[in-house]
Amino acid sequence: MRLYDSRKRIMVTGGAGFLGSHLCDKLLEQGHDVLCVDNLFTGTKRNIDHLHSHPRFEFMRHDVTFPLYVEVDEIYNLACPASPIHYQHDPVQTTKTSVHGAINMLGLAKRLKARILQASTSEVYGDPQIHPQSEDYWGHVNPIGIRSCYDEGKRCAETLFFDYHRQHKLEIKVARIFNTYGPRMHPNDGRVVSNFIVQALQNKPITVYGDGSQTRSFCYVDNMIDGLIRLMESPAGFTGPANLGNPREFSIRELAEKVIAMTGSTSEIIEKPLPSDDPAQRQPDISLAKTKLDWEPGIQLEQGLVQTIAYFQELLAEA
Ligand code: NAD
Ligand code: UDP
Repeated sequence: MRLYDSRKRIMVTGGAGFLGSHLCDKLLEQGHDVLCVDNLFTGTKRNIDHLHSHPRFEFMRHDVTFPLYVEVDEIYNLACPASPIHYQHDPVQTTKTSVHGAINMLGLAKRLKARILQASTSEVYGDPQIHPQSEDYWGHVNPIGIRSCYDEGKRCAETLFFDYHRQHKLEIKVARIFNTYGPRMHPNDGRVVSNFIVQALQNKPITVYGDGSQTRSFCYVDNMIDGLIRLMESPAGFTGPANLGNPREFSIRELAEKVIAMTGSTSEIIEKPLPSDDPAQRQPDISLAKTKLDWEPGIQLEQGLVQTIAYFQELLAEA
């Protein structure tokens, strides 16, 4: 628990989402006042139900593509659908959320002289030709594909963050988040970890897209939240971008086999067509975060999956 005089008023956009709700929990635990701003597009009230009676928590239903006038000391900008199904559902709104949302939140931070952190993504590297990906790699992104609304939106948001930093001396922090999983992922948002666990628990076929040889590196949510807070609290001179993720890399087929084994499921693995522009490989080089933030994710996939499977078991039992 922090001392009273270090208590800050912190705004979390996208605070009712998967990562945002865990971030709100942690910031409250540290003694801060938390303003959660969310339009509930992919986030749910359920994720923050337990916080409504908390005296230092406030929820505001608001779409970040519109200006916002509040008084806070720090801003975490997480508002944006993150799963391909959701961000492709209304791609124009996805770009608006990233770009107009960034402009609005940066404008707010400028007026308040507040420090602001952007939840960017490994998607800024696109389908990478350099492996593993370090921050100095500029990426390999299709500007007109079905993932572009998200990838290019997030890239443009990074540009805006760095221009506000150079032009207006704003204190910025940019985190490039790699695939993160854990309790409170939306069961129907189509992301691979939630899909496989829900399918396995229901003994339904596990849908591997393509031949399952594509790779991802999965970070447990608690480690990610710790990384985001460390980045926010790092010295002003360090802006990032900083990769945050777990460097252990798995093929999607390996993940499917692991989930089947850990749930004791009778599910079979079936192959479905690989969506276009699906990156073939992804693994973060986290040397920068290690050096600058003294951060390294300690929770490995097997441990994190135990918690996540338990969460979905409970959720499915309620339904
Ligand atoms: P999520 O979909 O659970 O959360 C996003 C939240 O933003 C939701 O609560 C949603 O309702 C809200 N939102 C969407 N559009 C909004 C708008 N216009 N105005 C206000 N709120 C809006 O996803 P998440 O996994 O928690 O992702 C959080 C952030 O982290 C996103 O910016 C995402 O791009 C980034 N990120 C996540 C991952 C990951 O693996 N989880 C990886 C890379 C980047
Ligand atoms: N994937 C899959 N089956 C599913 C959902 C996803 O094989 O039911 C694959 C998807 O094609 C991608 C990987 O898993 O190669 C990760 O997908 P996700 O949507 O979780 O994240 P992203 O592609 O944005 O990294």
